[in-house]
Amino acid sequence: MAIATINPTTGETLKTFEPLSEHELDERLALAAAEFTTYRTTDFKQRTAWMQSAADLLESEQEQVARMMTTEMGKTLVEARSEVAKCVKGMRFYADHAEAFLADEPADAPAVGARRAYARYQPLGPVLAVMPWNFPLWQAMRFAAPALMAGNVGLLKHASNVPQTALYLGELFARAGFPPGCFQTLLIGSDQVERVLRDPRVVAATLTGSEPAGRSVAAIAGSEVKATVLELGGSDPYVVMPSADLDGAVATAVTARVQNNGQSCIAAKRFIVHADVYEDFTDRFVARIEALRVGDPVDESTNVGPLATEQGRDDLEMLVTDAVVRGARVLCGGFTPDRPGWFYQPTVITDITPEMRIFKEEAFGPVASLYRVGNIDEALALANATDFGLGSNAWTTDEGEQERFIADLEAGIVTVNGMVVSYPELPFGGIKNSGYGRELSAHGIREFCNLKAVWIG
Ligand code: NDP
Repeated sequence: MAIATINPTTGETLKTFEPLSEHELDERLALAAAEFTTYRTTDFKQRTAWMQSAADLLESEQEQVARMMTTEMGKTLVEARSEVAKCVKGMRFYADHAEAFLADEPADAPAVGARRAYARYQPLGPVLAVMPWNFPLWQAMRFAAPALMAGNVGLLKHASNVPQTALYLGELFARAGFPPGCFQTLLIGSDQVERVLRDPRVVAATLTGSEPAGRSVAAIAGSEVKATVLELGGSDPYVVMPSADLDGAVATAVTARVQNNGQSCIAAKRFIVHADVYEDFTDRFVARIEALRVGDPVDESTNVGPLATEQGRDDLEMLVTDAVVRGARVLCGGFTPDRPGWFYQPTVITDITPEMRIFKEEAFGPVASLYRVGNIDEALALANATDFGLGSNAWTTDEGEQERFIADLEAGIVTVNGMVVSYPELPFGGIKNSGYGRELSAHGIREFCNLKAVWIG
């Protein structure tokens, strides 16, 4: 894939970039390794001051950064602004809490025959982050902020369709005062990732993206005995039970499906509705999806913009066609609008059977699958009938049912009477083919640390 900014709203190529040469790449890896030897010794007060400055800088450039993201990958400008604000919040969160999250953990010294015993978190070194285009700032920031606050240095290989956002990130931290080698953007294609992963100066990797990309990075890193965190998308269920607040469930369902033009790993994708409220939910949900305004993402009244890439739009179209050919029913949408750019009409389909691809695969765009179930056991069985296990949503006011969903949904996140959102305060990650490891919260910052056991006699 060429490294280029191609505006998804028009299909126009705006700027292309050359990937780093082997020599340039080597220079950056050498800088990262050299920087780590001194950066690891900086104290939390210093890192906090730099991170706060970076947050202030980003906040002051919110509009410019938001427009850049909308141009590169088509999210609505309104959502792009929120993404910038979310990053600022995440940066301040780690600036404020990193020291406490990484404080020494006392152990029972007499039990191990020591005068003192404790566990200490120490940084590991240069970490490679392979990141996707869908939240081009946030996905990278939720790695960068904890990594830098822990004393690691970051190397960002961003998706090839968001190079300007990638370069902005590479400069932001240095402009805020961090030493220049602390966080670098590597403009490289995915074919150069293996070379970086195998480089002894790189000690660990994190990837957010597709399952094949995750498997490849994890296999290479595994063969080098390097730690990885993987966040590989999901096909989140959204269960609605009879006791649910239906107004809330319907309104939130729409947002949960079409946020970010439908391209979110934690978007609700499979709507599993109890028969008692199925007709009511369906009528209202379809009416709201039909009413969404599809158009120019810069226009503040637009709800759904284009998909980020032509390939992504074509893949989505094929997923729906496969289902329809095999007997699925389209309740609304189901077509590519006749206009330039990579738009897909928001769609609801039903009568889905296991042999259809959409039953198993992630629909990465504004397409909702709708299922009817007779009871909570059927709802759970269907919700868990996926190889993914990232987020999950359940709507019910019955406390017994809430506990059942919390206990039995196979997912890294369960949201009751709401929609899955990532928060700096809560761990984020999945099970099954959605990956492993956690980002965000205290758990996220500890992923790339050496937890050193200390025994003093
Ligand atoms: P990819 O997984 O291909 O891209 C994500 C990142 O991984 C990019 O930086 C990409 O680089 C890199 N990459 C791709 N293949 C490899 C590889 N073999 N080794 C190392 N790095 C690699 O996602 P796509 O953009 O192709 O989207 C395809 C599907 O992935 C979507 O339809 C969706 O299902 C899922 N996805 C999930 C996301 C999530 O948030 N979990 C985000 C994006 C996609 P490059 O751009 O240079 O190819």
